[in-house]
Amino acid sequence: MVYTSYKKIDDVGRVVLPKDVREKLGLRINDMLKIDVENDRIILTKAVDSCVFCGKSDKLKEYMGKTVCESCINKLNNT
Ligand SMILES: [Zn+2]
Repeated sequence: MVYTSYKKIDDVGRVVLPKDVREKLGLRINDMLKIDVENDRIILTKAVDSCVFCGKSDKLKEYMGKTVCESCINKLNNT
C-alpha cells in the first residue's frame, strides 16, 4: 500500500497522523512509535516494545538508551 498525505508541522513540532492511517495500522492513543531517520526520510514504525526490567508494555519511556516503564524509572531514580 502506498499512501500519500501532506501535513503541516505545528509550532511545537507535532504532526497529526491521519485518522484513516491510524485505523489501518491499528495505532491507538499512547501507542509507542519508533522514529528512524534515514537520509532525508523519517520512518515511523509501530513499536511493540516492552520494559527491559519488568517486561510491561505500558507507560514506556526512553531511559539512557533503553526502553523502560515509568514505574521502573521511578524505582531507578529512588536508588
Ligand atoms: Zn518496568
